[in-house]
Amino acid sequence: MPTPPVDLVRPAVRAETVYRVPTTVEAAAKLDQNESPYDLPDEMKRAALDHFGESPWNRYPDDRPHRLVAALEAQNGLPEGSVIVGRGSNELAQTLALCFLDRGTPVVLPSPMFALYASVARMHAADIVDVPAGPDLRHDPDAILEAAQRTSAPLTVVTTPNNPTGQAIAHADLERLAAGVPGVLVIDEAYHEFLDGPTATDLLKDHANVLVLRTFSKALGLAGVRLGMMAGHPALIAEIEKSRVPFLIDRLGEAIGLAALDHADLVAERVAEMKAERARLEAWAGRLDGVEVLPGAANFFLFRTPLAVPDLIARMAERGVLVRNVTGYPALAGRDGRPGWARASVGTASENRAFQDALAAVLEAEG
Ligand code: PMP
Repeated sequence: MPTPPVDLVRPAVRAETVYRVPTTVEAAAKLDQNESPYDLPDEMKRAALDHFGESPWNRYPDDRPHRLVAALEAQNGLPEGSVIVGRGSNELAQTLALCFLDRGTPVVLPSPMFALYASVARMHAADIVDVPAGPDLRHDPDAILEAAQRTSAPLTVVTTPNNPTGQAIAHADLERLAAGVPGVLVIDEAYHEFLDGPTATDLLKDHANVLVLRTFSKALGLAGVRLGMMAGHPALIAEIEKSRVPFLIDRLGEAIGLAALDHADLVAERVAEMKAERARLEAWAGRLDGVEVLPGAANFFLFRTPLAVPDLIARMAERGVLVRNVTGYPALAGRDGRPGWARASVGTASENRAFQDALAAVLEAEG
C-alpha cells in the first residue's frame, strides 16, 4: 500500500481526536447521549416520508429551506431573515468558527462546556480564553464578562443549560452578558425546553450581537435526523450565510423538521415527563449511601459514587445501562480522593427502572 500524505493535514486538525461515542443502541437503557428516549409517532414519520416522497429527488432543494426557516421565525416571533438552519447545531458551531475565528482570535469558552466548541476553536488556531466554573460547577457570568472585556474577544460562547453539568445561567445574567461583552455572544440553548424560564431568543430584539443556537436533537427527539438552528439579527445572519455549506439541509430534513414543529403539544407532554423523571431520579440517587448528585436543568444529571468512573460505567453497562464518563473534562475528574462524575440522561419509565436497578446492584456488590 502507498503511504498517504497525512502530514499535509493541518497540524491543528491532526492534533484532534475524532468525536466518537463508544456505545450501542441495543442496550436496555441508553442514557449516555442526552437524547430523547421517545421516538416520533409512526403516523408522524409516515406523513413526513410521504411529503418527502412526493418531492423531486433529482432536483436540488431550496438554497434555504424556506418553509422550515419561516416556521422557526414565526415560532420565535422573529423577523424574516433571523434564522439559519443546519445539519445539527454541531455544524452551525463550525459555521460560527469559520465566520469569527482566525489564528490567534480570542474566544471566550467557559469550562466545562460541550467539548465541540473548544475542538473547533483549536482547529482554527484561535486563542481559547478559559473561564473555569467554580466548585459548584456553575459558570460565573461576572468572570465571563471580565474575560471577554479583558481580551476584547469577538466571540463569547455560553451553553445554558450547560452540557455536561446541567447548570443554567439566569436570564438576567444572559442579558447582562449580551449588553457587556465586546463582541458576539453565542448562547447555545440545546436543552432550553427543559428549563423553566424564558428562551434566549427573547434577547434578540434588544441585542443585535446575540446568536442563539438550538437543536432538534433533544426535546424534539430528532437526534437521528441532524437538524439545528441559529437565530440572530437578520444583518448578522446574512453575513454568516456567506460561509454556510450550500443547501444547508436536504428535503427530507425539512419535511421532518416541519412535522416535529407541528406536534408542539406532544413535545411539551414528553418534556414534562422527562423533567419529572429527572427530579425523581435525582432525589432517589441522592438518597443512596455514598452517592452525590448534581441536579440538572436539562434532561440529564451528574452523579458520583465511591467507584472509579470507568468501573462504574463498565458495571452499569454489564447490566445493560449506558451512562457517560465525563471525567475527560478536568473539572469533573476525581480529585482529593473522590472519584469523578458520571452523567445519566432520563429515559423511558423502563429505562429509568433499569438505571435504578443497575446502580443499586453495582453499589451493593461494591459495598
Ligand atoms: N450543544 C450542546 C450543548 C449539546 O450538548 C449538543 C449535543 N450533545 C449539541 C449542541 C449538538 O447538537 P446537535 O445534535 O444539534 O448537533
